[in-house]
Amino acid sequence: MTNLSNELPDKIYVPLGRRGFHPINLKACVRCFNAERFVLNFIEKKEYPAEIIDNAKKEIIDYKVQCKNCNAIYFIRMTLFKNIDENKEEQIIANFNILDENGNDEGWLGSTYI
Ligand SMILES: [Zn+2]
Repeated sequence: MTNLSNELPDKIYVPLGRRGFHPINLKACVRCFNAERFVLNFIEKKEYPAEIIDNAKKEIIDYKVQCKNCNAIYFIRMTLFKNIDENKEEQIIANFNILDENGNDEGWLGSTYI
């Protein structure tokens, strides 16, 4: 199995209004805050069918992870928004949410522009 961890950016950002952006380490555990490299074990990946809304394409991918430190299991949900312009896709933003072990959305964690 390929290393799913490599499919996600290490850092995402939360806007702080006029003070710029606060970086968040996406590979740190959201439960125990352990931020050692490779503390998250990426267990599986689940992709959902893409949705087309006007000239934008929305793609959702869930990554199930388990923390090697506290054993917590949760999902990192990546939602990609792409502009579709004359059959050329351009990625504009990736949003990241955390879902609990049962798939309940716990809210937005941050975003990154690619
Ligand atoms: Zn943990």
